Amino acid sequence: MLNVQEQVSLKPYNTLALPSLAEYFCRVNSDEGLSEALAWAGNHRYPVTLLGGGSNVVLAGNLSGLVVQMAIPGVELISEKHHLRRIRVGAGENWHQLVVHALNQGWFGLENLSLIPGLVGAAPVQNIGAYGVELSERFHSLEAVHLNTGERHVMSRSDCKFAYRDSFFKGQGRDQFAITAITLELSSKPDLHIEYPALQQAIDALPEAELTPKRVSDIVCDIRRGKLPDPDVIPNAGSFFKNPIVSSEVAAKLKHHYPKLVSYSLDENRVKLAAGWLIDQAGWKGFERDGVGVYNQQSLVLINMGGSCDALMSLVVDIQSSVMSKFGITLDIEPRVYR
Ligand SMILES: Cc1cc2nc3c(=O)[nH]c(=O)nc-3n(C[C@H](O)[C@H](O)[C@H](O)COP(=O)(O)OP(=O)(O)OC[C@H]3O[C@@H](n4cnc5c(N)ncnc54)[C@H](O)[C@@H]3O)c2cc1C
Repeated sequence: MLNVQEQVSLKPYNTLALPSLAEYFCRVNSDEGLSEALAWAGNHRYPVTLLGGGSNVVLAGNLSGLVVQMAIPGVELISEKHHLRRIRVGAGENWHQLVVHALNQGWFGLENLSLIPGLVGAAPVQNIGAYGVELSERFHSLEAVHLNTGERHVMSRSDCKFAYRDSFFKGQGRDQFAITAITLELSSKPDLHIEYPALQQAIDALPEAELTPKRVSDIVCDIRRGKLPDPDVIPNAGSFFKNPIVSSEVAAKLKHHYPKLVSYSLDENRVKLAAGWLIDQAGWKGFERDGVGVYNQQSLVLINMGGSCDALMSLVVDIQSSVMSKFGITLDIEPRVYR
């Protein structure tokens, strides 16, 4: 049954631990529950905001209308053909627990995406990626409900328009659909992707026989734990800025001025720059002000030690303008900012 609460603190529901109130709040753990919640909001003409684990949002104010936390469970093997394992997963499953479960079942392909916080339903929104693998590479389709019409849709990989930390759900489809389940295509045959430099380095020392998907997952977890603060200990939203993508000419000019520039060639024309390196070079590493700061092990991560959202956003603006004036590069914010 629908349980709508009033004036609920969202501090426990966002990993930056910013203080914010939901005018109304409910959790839904079934498709029917979601339909009821959408009907309730529609009858009251309230806007709906969806929340998963709150690890990729900046709650810069209170949220009016109904905040719906997507908690629909379920992991199901829906087909097996040769090595292919197709699985359907409810939007409310925890992403990392899914990775662990898949490994235990012998369904491989998610190991590089170990330990990414948040829930499954949000994974397609920004096409989560880490250590050289993106969700889009393991994705088959998703099920979603239109927030206004209640219509159910099945969307393919091309419908989702995946790109680097981007999808249809951040563009044209923004705030229009609740993703209720996703279907992934995994494999019973390991196909390891260990080209990413940090991963390659850690794996170099391993005898080949020990190189299993489980081992890759453990190594990814170790690297992440050494580099990223645990949001339960130091509130943060992971990478706060996207790695900028620039033309090869721009990258070449920068490299001329800054020979140590960290960059990855994407293709003939495009180069991805390491936003963390740019922020480091602009002198922000470990900087703290008014209860917020730049993490001292990884400048891409902003942390909240009891500061306000205003303090955080003012730090963001200062970082963006100093990177712009030093390098001429725009830093875009990765998490969704709700004002
Ligand atoms: C320490 C840390 C490390 C991280 N590392 C990575 C990383 O390596 N790679 C990476 O890609 N990301 C990373 N992130 C970001 C984050 O974990 C992912 O973006 C994750 O998918 C967000 O999931 P969530 O459930 O917390 O989403 P939320 O933060 O709750 O929501 C994010 C957005 O998705 C929308 N949304 C949520 N659920 C649904 C749904 N079911 N249907 C439709 N819209 C929905 C929300 O409205 C919101 O706009 C990291 C974050 C942290 C804190």
